[in-house]
Amino acid sequence: MRRHRNVKIVATLGPASSDYKMIRALHEAGADVFRLNMSHGSHDEIRERHAIIRKVEEDVGNPIAILADLQGPKLRVGTFANDEGEELAEGQAFRLDLDEAPGDATRVQLPHKEIFDALEPGAHLLINDGKIKLRVKDCGRDFADCEVVVGGTISNRKGVNVPDVVLPLAALSDKDRKDLEFVCDLGVDWLALSFVQRPSDVEEARALSKGRAAILSKIEKPAAVKNFDDIIEASDGIMVARGDLGVELPVQNVPPIQKRLVRKCRTAAKPVIVATQMLESMIESPMPTRAEVSDVATAIYEGADAIMLSAESAAGDYPVEAVTTMDNVAFEVESDENYTAIIESSRTADRTSVADGIVAAAREIAETTDIKAICCYSESGTTGLLTARERPRVPIIVLSTRIETARRLCLSWGTNCVRTTTEVNRFKIAVVEAVRAALKTGIASKEDMVVVTAGVPFNTPGSTNILRVAPCEERLIYAAETE
Ligand code: PGA
Ligand code: MN
Repeated sequence: MRRHRNVKIVATLGPASSDYKMIRALHEAGADVFRLNMSHGSHDEIRERHAIIRKVEEDVGNPIAILADLQGPKLRVGTFANDEGEELAEGQAFRLDLDEAPGDATRVQLPHKEIFDALEPGAHLLINDGKIKLRVKDCGRDFADCEVVVGGTISNRKGVNVPDVVLPLAALSDKDRKDLEFVCDLGVDWLALSFVQRPSDVEEARALSKGRAAILSKIEKPAAVKNFDDIIEASDGIMVARGDLGVELPVQNVPPIQKRLVRKCRTAAKPVIVATQMLESMIESPMPTRAEVSDVATAIYEGADAIMLSAESAAGDYPVEAVTTMDNVAFEVESDENYTAIIESSRTADRTSVADGIVAAAREIAETTDIKAICCYSESGTTGLLTARERPRVPIIVLSTRIETARRLCLSWGTNCVRTTTEVNRFKIAVVEAVRAALKTGIASKEDMVVVTAGVPFNTPGSTNILRVAPCEERLIYAAETE
């Protein structure tokens, strides 16, 4: 199945999208990557959805990426004597402490010792998605006396954000470790880490995953924005997680951060997902708002690799319509000549390797003459990522004998991933396989030409050093077959 757009669509699965029929319909409507959210759903449910995605993948014959999103260290207050919670008024005093006794209008437990160790007077605590704001006036090893800056209702187990301080929290909770092992065992392509604060958080997850999945860092803490250059270096991909980011920082800071991060990811040749509330109103309505359509379009104009649906596809009434909306918006934006101009003017000039030079040359040649596709051999995925970074005007076909590589690259801009089963040990075979894939995907026909890039010696990551312009003559394929 061939997509007529370059940006990829990530659809989160949930109660509204858990059977074969729906998951297949989402893929056919345009979902390239499925997200399993470990904050919701039991291991049995996750296992079932995982099996269905793999079945759809087999039935349609395209690689599909699975992204497992770990909950991360989500902080919560304790419970109140009154189940309804308490009303906090602006200006009043409120204490957070380690005492398990049920809370009241003057105090509640905050069962995270690490927060008290890191807090300082003047720091802010946000409760219940940022609806309540407290400022610390005085604090010690087991308490924080605060003033209510913005009031509201506080009730049992509401979430807490502490934007101003880097918390010495373990990046992965016990639940995350169990979930990580579970999904890596099942076989997922991407692991997303929530509330990453520093590169060592990424390294910790990488050590546990032992190469079984690529690591994607969710940027949703001010510390992650601050340490972004080191975090992207340590990660394989990034998610601009605008939900929590807009709670931890003033919402108006989110758009410029999104723009900056998307650019940096392209420079680094690592995929970036723009996520959260993209088509929020479609949870309940078959029609998006104009503002949402514009938000989706903006992410595409910025050059994001992927755009994501959260509750729209996981728990909404119109999952397929939401995917179709994104697909339609992407087609229109990418057909706009302004889009091409923006994407081309923001291409990085920072090229240092032979592979960088080869992929840039492949794009130049493909755009100068009538070439239908750039076919690149990529075992580790590196050359696929570099080719995607070029954002060429012609389709990219990535060939790999490794299914893991083909699946991971499903998240990257413009890639049509094909798993080849033929062992490539000569360049001629590489060309034959590339032509075969170009014909099969319908991207090229017999009269056309394609550019093929590969590396010799074969099967050595990052070795891309050959470029060939090849005709899609079937005689080439027959000759190779009858040899
Ligand atoms: P979440 O992450 O849905 O897991 O919270 C996305 C976000 O915060 O935007
Ligand atoms: Mn989040």
